[in-house]
Formats: sequence, structure tokens, C-alpha cells
Amino acid sequence: MNEQTFRRFIQQVRKVRLLIGEAPEQMELTFRLEIAEGVAKGELVDRETPEKVRLAVLTRPLIHTNSPIAIDHVWVAMKQSLPLDPGFVSDVERVRERVRLGSTRVILNGTEIPAERLYRALADGEFFQKSSEYVALREALSVGPGLERLWMHFYSYCLGMFDIAYAMADALLALLPAPAPPTNPQCIYCLTTEGAFTTEEHAVPEAFGNDDAILPLGDVCDACQSSLAPLDQWLANHEGIALDRVIHTAHTKKGKLPRATFGNMLVEKVRPGTIRITATNDEPPLVFEAAQPDGSMRFRIHARGQKPLDVQRLGRPLYKVGLAMLAFHAGRVAACSERYDAARAFVQGTRHFPNNLIVRTTSTPHDRLNSQLWDQCDGGGTLFAIDFWGVLFMLNLEEAPVLTIDPDEPLAAIATTLWIGE
Ligand SMILES: [Zn+2]
Repeated sequence: MNEQTFRRFIQQVRKVRLLIGEAPEQMELTFRLEIAEGVAKGELVDRETPEKVRLAVLTRPLIHTNSPIAIDHVWVAMKQSLPLDPGFVSDVERVRERVRLGSTRVILNGTEIPAERLYRALADGEFFQKSSEYVALREALSVGPGLERLWMHFYSYCLGMFDIAYAMADALLALLPAPAPPTNPQCIYCLTTEGAFTTEEHAVPEAFGNDDAILPLGDVCDACQSSLAPLDQWLANHEGIALDRVIHTAHTKKGKLPRATFGNMLVEKVRPGTIRITATNDEPPLVFEAAQPDGSMRFRIHARGQKPLDVQRLGRPLYKVGLAMLAFHAGRVAACSERYDAARAFVQGTRHFPNNLIVRTTSTPHDRLNSQLWDQCDGGGTLFAIDFWGVLFMLNLEEAPVLTIDPDEPLAAIATTLWIGE
């Protein structure tokens, strides 16, 4: 495991810490019991408040062993590569075992179920996904007041694991070397070599769930990071992408559940896998079709835009991502080449870019965010395509040649060109 993974772990811990710090009282659970005429009825108050759902979502990468920053993986790597204090090691392992088992014992038909499996019964049987093993366990544990108890175990496991992660992050911060200052820094957006370079840039904005394509320190100056950040936000809220973003991303940069507003509806993720659509005027956002032969329902989502499409504003953040992906794949020096000076000026908003943006108008949604670069050399341009879950854009990072679609090409039937020149 490399240092960058340790730093991603620390960052995720910070996000949870921030959430808990914002509203510590929101993390508490209240069990309300009512007894009337000898019959008791109990329920958890505020079981799925936005804060608690965020807690579950943000601790998930620290807990689930599919994640590269899961506590158990990071712990193994820390023991292998860092000079940990033996007392600290035994403390962490003791607490880890206590959290795994839970503070109250649950025995189901004679078999003890550790807290770790109680967590998974809800996490993998309902909340995040439905794997058959855990759906069955969740059902077995949900009889009577069992489901309410399961929710309590679920959140206390999240909090227990967070406590361990917090202690580990603290140790990492003390033991990891300070990040080395970048060598020969140059900002790919303004070409400065002298500004401050203290934060990493996500090549594809974090709002799109990107945790992989991260540029090294020295590629983007702090001034551009903050002055160009509104472009990322604007792209994330763009009506052509926002609905897919809400569906496909787990949380925003700040760790909130994603949401998007349209002219006729509000779309919110209320828990992983669950989207709430609220009509905000008379124009119905959902159009139901006749029931299918297999009994399933089909509907179309009809989203009304709020503003006319501004192609320049759409182009700038896409060019910003294109330049960053170029630096990510080909390096800082390549991205700072004068071939891209016009693209830089366009991103900075100081001039237009005399070229077409190709937008795919018909596509099948999918669950991936992909991008690709083609350096054509010899005046052929540098082509960049990015596909946001089925919404595809293609552009040339150089002024020439101008991208066009031949009407005889198959592409003509599914894509269109938008002039971003003037
Ligand atoms: Zn800069």
C-alpha cells in the first residue's frame, strides 16, 4: 500500500469527523417506547435522518473490505510499513475485536451473531445492496422489534469503526513524512511556476465521485484551484448530467447526499440506491407507461431545464477536465505545451474557442464514467472524449482542426455539434 492510499484514508476520516463535528447530537439514537392497554410499541426516532444516512455512506469505504481504504487493509499495511508503538497496536486490535463482537450479545436461535454480521445484515441486506445471504439474515433478525434493534447495531458499528479509523489516522499523521514540495511546479491552467502549490487537483471533479484521477502537487496552482472551482460546480449541476450524477455518485465533495433541481422537479438521493423525485410545479416529472407483461412498471423521467443551454459555459469546464486528464496521462510538461495555450485561455474565460463541441444526443445510460484522449500530432489536434454515465462529449484541445460530423457517418444519427467559438 502506498502513501497516497494512506492519505486517502486520512481524507475520508476527515470527512466523517467533519460530519460528526457539525451535528454531534444528530448521531444519537432515541428509542421511543409506548405502552397502551398493556401493549408495547417501540420505534427508533429519526432513524434515517440525512446526517445518519451520511454517516453510514461516509463510513462505508472505511468498513467494506471491497474498498482499498478499508480499516482492515490499511491496518495490515500500517503494521507492515510503519514503526508503530506495540502498545498502540494492541489497543487498536483490542478495540477492533470489541467492535467486531459488539457491546451487547445477540443470539439468534442459539447462534451468536457478532456486531460485524449485524451491520452486514442491514448494509448488505437492505441499505447498500441486497445480497441474498444478508437479505435472509436481515429477515430473520427483523421479527418484532428486531428491525429497530438492527438499525441501532448498524449505526453503533459505523461509529465504533470510525473511532478506530480516527485513532489510526492520527497515528498516520504523526508517522507519515510531510509531503515533499513539488519539483519544477507549473500550473497547467495559468503556466505560473511561482505561485503556491499546496493542494491536489482532482482531474475529474470530486463531485462526480472521482477518487482516482488525481494530479500530483505542482500541476495546478492554489489560485487556479480556487478561481476555477465554480466551473466544476457548474458542470456538476448542469441539467444534462445532474440526474445521472445523483443516481451514480455516493456523495458530494462535502460528503452530502447528491441532489439536483430542475424546472419541474427536485431529485434527491435519500439513501444509497433510493432516489426521491418531488414535483415542483404542474408538469409531472414521471410519466408512467402501461404495466409490462412481467408485471414490472416502466416510466419515463421528464426533466424540464431551467435555463437555455449556454454552450460556452458548458465548454469551459469540459476543457478544464480535458487539460487535467492530459496532464494526468501525459504529464505536466506536455499539458503546458503552447499547443494548449488557446484551451487554457478559454478555461480562464479570457477568450472563446473556435471549435465545435460534439455532444451525443441519444445514448443508453450505464454506470461508468470514462474518458479518453487521442493525441493526433501533426496538426490533427488532441481529441478528448468524456462519457458521464452515457452522456458523452467530445472536443479538440487545439484550435485546429475544427471537429465536424459528416452527415453520412453513423455518428450523425446520434450526436450533434455545438459551436463554442463566439
Ligand atoms: Zn494557475
